[in-house]
Amino acid sequence: MINQPKEIGFHTHQRSRIANRVESMAPSGIREFFELVTSHHDILSLGVGEPDFVTPWRIRESALYHINRGETSYTSNSGLPSLREKIAAYLDHRFGIQADPAHEILVTVGVSEALDLALRALLNPDDEVIIWEPAYVAYSPLVTLAGGKAIALESCADDGFRLDLGKLEQLVTPRTRAIIINYPNNPTGVTLKEFELKGLASLCLSHHIIMISDEIYAEMTHDEHHISLASLPDISGWVVLLSGFSKSFAMTGWRIGYAVGPADLISAMTRIHQYTMLCAPIMSQRAAETALEEGLVDMNEMCEIFRQRANLIVQALRDNGLPCHQPEGAFYAFPSIRNSGLNSMEFCRRLLDNEKVAIVPGSVFGRSGEGHVRIAYAADTNTIETAIGRIGRFIRNL
Ligand code: PLP
Repeated sequence: MINQPKEIGFHTHQRSRIANRVESMAPSGIREFFELVTSHHDILSLGVGEPDFVTPWRIRESALYHINRGETSYTSNSGLPSLREKIAAYLDHRFGIQADPAHEILVTVGVSEALDLALRALLNPDDEVIIWEPAYVAYSPLVTLAGGKAIALESCADDGFRLDLGKLEQLVTPRTRAIIINYPNNPTGVTLKEFELKGLASLCLSHHIIMISDEIYAEMTHDEHHISLASLPDISGWVVLLSGFSKSFAMTGWRIGYAVGPADLISAMTRIHQYTMLCAPIMSQRAAETALEEGLVDMNEMCEIFRQRANLIVQALRDNGLPCHQPEGAFYAFPSIRNSGLNSMEFCRRLLDNEKVAIVPGSVFGRSGEGHVRIAYAADTNTIETAIGRIGRFIRNL
């Protein structure tokens, strides 16, 4: 009799081999939906959150050059000093952020890793983290994995999904350790204005709360200049800025990002990073250096294309009977589907079956995303127009 639970002691009950905090995590709604998508053929997908461009050739070439030179080693845990210096210069020049490359910048394996490190470095068990929702799907599970409790700050379609500072203040408790914001926002496309950022800054200074500011879409701000929270006076000790190369330089597969923050927090994050990741891949770090040196023209061109597509998609959606606020940045439209009478998961499933178009149900981004769908305009105009036409036909046939 092998592997039978014994009838005595703690063997009486079969125990899961998986840790409780992982067992209790819901699977990613996006993943679940895209499992479904892969079972269909000839799908028009406006679902995936990555640019439809390949990485500009200058950046690819430079990585190959460095690989050919035999640069295949580890780097400093914090990232190549030369890359950190270039990131510091770029942030200063573009956003007016002053950061010491030696102590206040950590190069990470994408913003994904930076986010995980920030949360693990900050949270004690049951500390609360307020998340502005609808939000990127990784935030809440990563808070749970770091031992914290995710608290949703819901925003509302009638207010254009803007961040409500009054509501936020009501959610703050003595256990609130951090607030996660993301702007321009995935999935709503909303960005934060100067008065909202100043309000956030004064709230976090008065309550001693750390702001985790995910600004990965900063360069894709359509009509205004992006203002980084970290550039506001007095707040620098209380903000961790997360950004990277995935979106703005079309470098999702290179897995390269960075965190900028107060030296003590960056040092704590580096301690975790040195044991878990050791360093970001050297070839990606070299490519990132070239992106900052020679890739800005390509980046601006790609961002301009996203700006034009935002106008096109909003018009196409409205023409097809879907109310949609104008996205201010990133590459997502977030129209309402309430008139259809379906919930967002049902809407997307049936759209996939009937019209072979894949988009993402708003409910996967939090409760306040229900009644909406996320449509990525990271596709050529022809694909966008055909897909929106099919969505219109789907609604008319309901
Ligand atoms: N943050 C947001 C808001 C995102 O939308 C994404 C990817 O979709 C990420 C972080 C992950 O970025 P990275 O590729 O740098 O890990």
